Amino acid sequence: MANVILRKKISRRIESGHPWIFGNEVNVVEGEWTAGGIADVFTHDKKFIGRGYVNPQSQIVVRLLTRNRDEQVDRDFFLRHIRDAWAYRQQLGYRENCRLIFGEADGLPQLIIDKFNDYFAIQTLALGIDTWKPVIVEVLEELFSPKGIYERNDVPVRELEGLAQQKGFLSAPFDTNIIITENGVRFHVDMANGQKTGYFLDQQDNRRAIQNIVKGADVLGAFCYTGSFEIHAGFYGAQSVLGLDISDKAIDMCNKNALLNGLQDICRFEAVNAFDVLKVWAKEGRKWDVVMLDPPSFTKTRDNIQKAISGYKEINLRGLKLVKPGGFLVTSSCTNLIQPSLFAEIIQMAARDAKRRIRQVVFNSQSADHPIIPGQENTHYLKFMIVQVL
Ligand code: SAH
Repeated sequence: MANVILRKKISRRIESGHPWIFGNEVNVVEGEWTAGGIADVFTHDKKFIGRGYVNPQSQIVVRLLTRNRDEQVDRDFFLRHIRDAWAYRQQLGYRENCRLIFGEADGLPQLIIDKFNDYFAIQTLALGIDTWKPVIVEVLEELFSPKGIYERNDVPVRELEGLAQQKGFLSAPFDTNIIITENGVRFHVDMANGQKTGYFLDQQDNRRAIQNIVKGADVLGAFCYTGSFEIHAGFYGAQSVLGLDISDKAIDMCNKNALLNGLQDICRFEAVNAFDVLKVWAKEGRKWDVVMLDPPSFTKTRDNIQKAISGYKEINLRGLKLVKPGGFLVTSSCTNLIQPSLFAEIIQMAARDAKRRIRQVVFNSQSADHPIIPGQENTHYLKFMIVQVL
């Protein structure tokens, strides 16, 4: 096993528990470090910092798995971590569906495991964790006896690690069109071809947050994907729901999901560009009691941050104009680089431009099965806000 000795002045980030070691933080490497292998990391004066997996090809050369020198990285390590992660989710009330492993926040950098009742979707987004994939699958088999495990590694970020994009079965093949129940509502999930791992679990707590404001309401939902918020609105007693998404495939799924819940007369869906129609409808003076917005991430890089801010402001401005006085805007941002305080400011700016007064009702983050580690910004990415529009 190689020893990685850091420069004399180690960054505060590493000291305070961040698991990533960048190439320029390394002084020397003693022994051979092999891509995907395990190394020990030390300060310049040989104090043990932690043990992690290595990729000399990546900008992040080590990702720490443990800070305990006595802890070996082996099958048992993964068994313990995955069992603990499941115990945490159960303690928080998750039974059927949850993000079982949320990478860094569960001490397993770049590993994502979503549990959809008896089925599991896996992403291994760095070489060092990809190496352990067969072991992780074995552990899942042991702990859950799943009906199926599917790999959704069709993610561009893997290429930064020298890994190919790929997807497929990690268990015996199974029908990847499954049905899950969330908050008492049923959804079709396409584990093989749906976005990301097939379904956005990160909003599952937030979908409950609309329960009271949608009762008897006319609801508009833009960027609805498979209609998760919209079908919830129907289920919670909305009078009418209109969901919009640019993807025909998503809209087909929305209609299937409405039918699955007997809500096809309440929930309607249209395949349109939400940016365009919201602008037109605002001009026409159309109004809804509740408008919900959940757009995709507007940027992954700092270079485009200004454009992303304008994008959020613009879409929320349009959304706000469509809300009846006393109604509600339900708005989200999954852009990592937009901090919660900045998002709140953007909504405030949009309200000012829309000439509407607002008051904040709810300001949440992602669901509790995606815990946030202070100092690790990538674990805190979702902003979810409900404001009343006066
Ligand atoms: N609300 C969903 C997740 C939305 S993901 C849920 O809780 O599951 C973002 C969605 O926005 C995607 O389905 C994507 O197809 C859609 N989208 C992207 N650009 C769009 C546009 N200009 N108009 C409408 N929908 C768009």
